Amino acid sequence: MTALPARIASLPKAELHVHLEGSMPPATVAKIAARHDVAVSEEEVRRRYAYQDFVEFIETFKWVTSFLREPADYGVIVQDFAEALLTQHVVYAEATLSIGVMQLRGQNPRANFAAILEAAEGFETRGLRLRWVWDAVRQFGVEAALSVVEAAGECKSDKIVAFGIGGDERSIPAKEFRHVYGRAGDLGMRKLIHAGEVGGPENIREAIEHLGVERIGHGIAAFRDPALMDLLAERQIPLEVCPASNICTGALDVQLGVTGATIEQHPLPTLFRHGIPIVLSTDDPTMFHTTLTREYENAAKMGLEKAELERIVEMGFTHAFR
Ligand SMILES: [Zn+2]
Repeated sequence: MTALPARIASLPKAELHVHLEGSMPPATVAKIAARHDVAVSEEEVRRRYAYQDFVEFIETFKWVTSFLREPADYGVIVQDFAEALLTQHVVYAEATLSIGVMQLRGQNPRANFAAILEAAEGFETRGLRLRWVWDAVRQFGVEAALSVVEAAGECKSDKIVAFGIGGDERSIPAKEFRHVYGRAGDLGMRKLIHAGEVGGPENIREAIEHLGVERIGHGIAAFRDPALMDLLAERQIPLEVCPASNICTGALDVQLGVTGATIEQHPLPTLFRHGIPIVLSTDDPTMFHTTLTREYENAAKMGLEKAELERIVEMGFTHAFR
């Protein structure tokens, strides 16, 4: 086992790719379900937090978010989320909210967001600044994505820093969302997308060329395309790399064309040493049994030196939107 230098563990950090709804510990899920008279044991949640592949992970994400039914539920999960970030020395986070899922369930994202902001406010004085990414679900379609952008615009909140698209990148081509991103830009939102996670490098290129995205969620497929690696390095477009997630969803297996890929086989060192900015992140930390500290341990296991890890800590701040 590779030890993480103590200095790296204790440095203040930024976390830029983390889903609020993917950060619920089993006890929190049980607590939220109980608020709605649904009996779910922590044990059951633990059992569900294991996946054969990406599709099964998406199914579990849907299951776990099905207990989030009213604004107060979101307030509860923000408390646990923010406490966990503080223990990892995170001082700034851009957390993703699955607004597309809220809308699909007929909820009012604005009311949920008000509860989220209220819960987050108390943490500012404790040294944690939280900003938010409003996320659409790719397979829900273009109109649904546009309604996420419009709902964000109606909020007029400077705490919303970006618009992004997650979900299944193999469902609808990125270029179909061109006017959605155009509208997000008009409203002053920065642009993100999940691409090159389970899909190929062409998905990353397409998102850059057609949507003007400023950071790529995952993007690990880039290592398969040297010309794309050059482009990312030249334009300094960061990849939000989430190693534990890539193992748990089988994304690393897909990209390497193997089964049972290990963390040491992750392309992060190749991408980083090619000059591509890396934003090391946890994605859905409780669902992938990880923390930001553990992701730095993972990066050390891949062979990154102390100075390189320090550089990655810095990049979290350099490539933040605020
Ligand atoms: Zn993600």
